[in-house]
Amino acid sequence: MSHTRPYRIFNAAHARSEDVTPHLRRITFSGPDIAEMATWAPDQRIKIFFPTDDGRIPDMPDREDWYSIYKSVPVAERVPMRTYTIRNLRADQAEVDVEFVLHGENGPASRWATHAKPGDKVQISAPNRRAEKIGGGFEWKPPADPRHVLLMADETAIPALAGILEELAARPNPPPCEVFAEVADRADALPLPNWPGLNIHWLIRHEEGDPRPGDLLVAAVERAKLPAANAEQAGTELEAIDIDTTVPWELAKATEGAFYAWIAGESEAIMSIRRTLIKERGIDRSLLNLMGYWRFGKVYE
Ligand SMILES: Cc1cc2nc3c(=O)[nH]c(=O)nc-3n(C[C@H](O)[C@H](O)[C@H](O)COP(=O)(O)OP(=O)(O)OC[C@H]3O[C@@H](n4cnc5c(N)ncnc54)[C@H](O)[C@@H]3O)c2cc1C
Repeated sequence: MSHTRPYRIFNAAHARSEDVTPHLRRITFSGPDIAEMATWAPDQRIKIFFPTDDGRIPDMPDREDWYSIYKSVPVAERVPMRTYTIRNLRADQAEVDVEFVLHGENGPASRWATHAKPGDKVQISAPNRRAEKIGGGFEWKPPADPRHVLLMADETAIPALAGILEELAARPNPPPCEVFAEVADRADALPLPNWPGLNIHWLIRHEEGDPRPGDLLVAAVERAKLPAANAEQAGTELEAIDIDTTVPWELAKATEGAFYAWIAGESEAIMSIRRTLIKERGIDRSLLNLMGYWRFGKVYE
């Protein structure tokens, strides 16, 4: 029954937008369905279905098997679907905010966000407020009392990062936390919460000769404060992942422990950070979330 499934399909329309920075546009979606939406964590991911370029409005049925229905449609006829993060949900006002990186006209989501206007319709697969139990779609599951948190994000993961920092800042004793956040321009370094013990390093590509996205995060991990190596793990061969076909996605398993890392961004950069942290630095991989949010030059649906 749709009303108790963890996820459902929501009809939504662009209500308004605000440019948080020159490359990050917050779009507020509204519609009666959104009163039934839930979010379970600051990195809650959702799928958004966009209209086709010839104006066909997404019309996915609200069914448990929507994904197989979607995949059964020939690629050329599918409405585009991309993954985003719930930045803020105000179910009482039937509104949800999503922050879109404006990276140009080369992808349907960025193109849509660049041109969308009030009233433009999308559909969203997102958590259901009437779910009997919490579903998944989020990876921020820190231990109760971490002694040190490492967060690394490029612009696509900054909406989740901002939410994570807001959650930590609201704790009675926020933990020591080191953040590396990579963006294109100085003006993209948006205001984030602060507390003693939080150390934010903005990595600005434009000030470093405009390297490939992710390169500054890869270099920065060398100077991150890390726990002692796990001697058994250091030097072990990592399983190969073909990032052209598979999204790198490795998750922390620790429910307690002093260190916890949440790292998301461009897939090749994530693979390189994975090698540095696990193979070279011997960090216990059960403490690390390593997530490819997009792939330079490729399309992940
Ligand atoms: C769990 C999760 C949460 C995410 N949350 C957000 C979010 O809140 N906000 C957000 O903006 N993105 C988010 N992303 C990333 C987003 O899904 C991708 O950036 C996606 O590729 C955008 O789709 P598109 O249609 O614009 O481009 P696509 O059609 O997917 O790609 C077209 C081209 O654009 C390039 N491209 C894609 N993204 C970027 C980029 N950011 N910068 C430069 N080039 C790019 C691709 O390499 C490709 O060459 C998230 C991804 C995941 C997995």
